[in-house]
Amino acid sequence: MKISFHGAAQTVTGSKHLITLKNGKKLLLDCGMFQGRGVETESLNKEWGFVPAEIDYMVLSHAHIDHSGLIPKLVKEGYKGKIYCTNPTKDLAQILLLDSAHIQESDAKFLNKKRRDQNKSAISPLYDTHDVMRCLMRFTTVDLDEWIQITDDIQLKFTEAGHILGAAVVNLRIKEDDEIKRITFSGDIGRYNDAILKSPAEFPQADVIICESTYGDSLHDEVQISETEVIKLIYKTCVEQDGKLIIPAFSVGRTQELVYMLNRLIESATIPALNVYVDSPLSTEATRITYNHPECFNKKLLRYMERDENPFDFPTLRYITEKEVSQELNQKKESCIIISASGMAEAGRVKHHIANNIQNPKNTILLAGYCEPNSLGGRLKLRPDVVKIFGEEYRVNATIAEIKSLSAHADYEDISQFLACQDPKQVQQFFVVHGEPQVQEHFKRKLIKKGFNEVYIPAQHQVFNI
Ligand SMILES: [Zn+2]
Repeated sequence: MKISFHGAAQTVTGSKHLITLKNGKKLLLDCGMFQGRGVETESLNKEWGFVPAEIDYMVLSHAHIDHSGLIPKLVKEGYKGKIYCTNPTKDLAQILLLDSAHIQESDAKFLNKKRRDQNKSAISPLYDTHDVMRCLMRFTTVDLDEWIQITDDIQLKFTEAGHILGAAVVNLRIKEDDEIKRITFSGDIGRYNDAILKSPAEFPQADVIICESTYGDSLHDEVQISETEVIKLIYKTCVEQDGKLIIPAFSVGRTQELVYMLNRLIESATIPALNVYVDSPLSTEATRITYNHPECFNKKLLRYMERDENPFDFPTLRYITEKEVSQELNQKKESCIIISASGMAEAGRVKHHIANNIQNPKNTILLAGYCEPNSLGGRLKLRPDVVKIFGEEYRVNATIAEIKSLSAHADYEDISQFLACQDPKQVQQFFVVHGEPQVQEHFKRKLIKKGFNEVYIPAQHQVFNI
């Protein structure tokens, strides 16, 4: 059989790996969207490198858009098979794909107004909400840790990846020429000390491994350190300076982690009972879905829930979905904490909150995750004197703070721990995906030291015999 790489190849988005059997059957692992590179991204999202109607089966590792974002387009262009994923992944994919369709529809509307004035032809979104609803019918949910039969020749078992709610490692057994090939695709790997989720689990011995490498060359800080830093920032901003703490946060994962942390800190009187606002319809939905899947929670959180049934709710917390209520936050003079999407602050309501609060030295903007260098979050990390938001210049008088340790991705130590269950001698081929080239080279050298012999860094559309 063959494997070809059509995304997340020497880059971090667009995850798409295609296995083609000798009998012509095709199985697609993930169908992610390329993100964040302007014109180049646009064409990358239009060139599949394969024909959607010719795919027979699809397996989705987790709901993040860079792994799921082109599924509606795949179905629109003729894919008629099932989409295998875990139950929470289906729930999250629904809200994330609908959100992606809404963003594309409103972007197209905005751009087409401009294009009409310039006598240019209108552009259309990659897909709309109708396409999302159609593709959702194809989602078939599978429990973790159970082998299921996709066909007589293909078996699938999901194991815990610990990355986001529902994220799974994809383990396959594919029979060809009376021989069984064991293939594992890591999806994205989480951390071993996540506040909410279980740790990545051991997975069956594989002959072929396709593994992410986002942080394959670095180590994160301890989670405990970031909590101490958050407490310090809250005291400085909200108690001493009577200001506002604005936290741009990803709707899935980071928001729930922050809410649970603040819940514990307020409950234990470590910090005063400040008003906390989660201002984002998507974050509100994602939190509801998380609460509905306690089977994904780690023991520590389940123990906590014996005395506080809902870790994502407390008396001074308010979830805001309506636009008008969000706008009212600007008039409020009280010191408070606002958690809002998007995580990189390049879109969404948090951009307005930053614009409204960045010129006041009493306030703090806390960047709690990875930000693309060109996003508003990325530009703020350079701590400029002036920043442009919505085309206008703002003086950066607020404190800009940063905590790296809240990343949902495994660092090098985590990936090593994840791979410790494997006998490197039995692994015939190891493909490094989902990483920047320099990081991947570094990771490859470390893998070879560990005894993995055939390590490859595939390029876009490259094909390998396996
Ligand atoms: Zn992910």
